[in-house]
Amino acid sequence: MAHSVCLFDIDGTLLDTGGAGLAAMQAALQSEFGVRLEEGRIPTAGRTDRAIVLDMMACFGIPESDETLSRFTAAYLQHLRMTLHQRRGLVLPGVPELLRRLHEHPHVHVGLLTGNFREGARLKLEHYGLYHYFQFGGFGDRARDRNDVAREALVEVHRHLDGKVSLERIWVVGDTPADVECGRAIGARVIAVGTGIVPNSQVQAAGPDFFFKSFADPTDVLRLVLPDGMDGNY
Ligand SMILES: [Mg+2]
Repeated sequence: MAHSVCLFDIDGTLLDTGGAGLAAMQAALQSEFGVRLEEGRIPTAGRTDRAIVLDMMACFGIPESDETLSRFTAAYLQHLRMTLHQRRGLVLPGVPELLRRLHEHPHVHVGLLTGNFREGARLKLEHYGLYHYFQFGGFGDRARDRNDVAREALVEVHRHLDGKVSLERIWVVGDTPADVECGRAIGARVIAVGTGIVPNSQVQAAGPDFFFKSFADPTDVLRLVLPDGMDGNY
């Protein structure tokens, strides 16, 4: 039987952290550099953490160097542990069932394609009890451009599966036009979901192969992604 791969975005697709990520970045700017960033000044949806952090630092004239970046990142991860507890977030509807059913299928492989720093992704997913589903992925530590994260994720897919999967069976799943574009950039198929902050019309206009308002009923997604559709007992 053919293998299928699903590469998931995190924020707005699997989780709504209640703003814990941005709050932790604001706290890191404050504690490390003594500056205060108002909400909404730097766009975050669909972008990599590296791009967001570099924009934030540029905004305050903080010089970009390995030293300032690693100070920021260490402080961010420290604050994120707290903001995840402070903010009231949630796992988006249907996501636990979707992940469970993908995970239990022997020919489906579930990974990440996220703009989060690798360690930030782990903290967010562990907080909400979802981390164990993900075996590999592409992350936002080095790339400014999400398309490069997609390329990194694709390399990991082929490494994980020893090249035994074709592009038409690789699905990128996300909530922003940038998710759709990065899926296209690697020739994968794209499922978009309308549970993020970008208006549904904008996400649909980016041209995903399929669009769902939410995963509250994951049946149709499973039918698309499972190599044997909904046959068998999966
Ligand atoms: Mg997202």
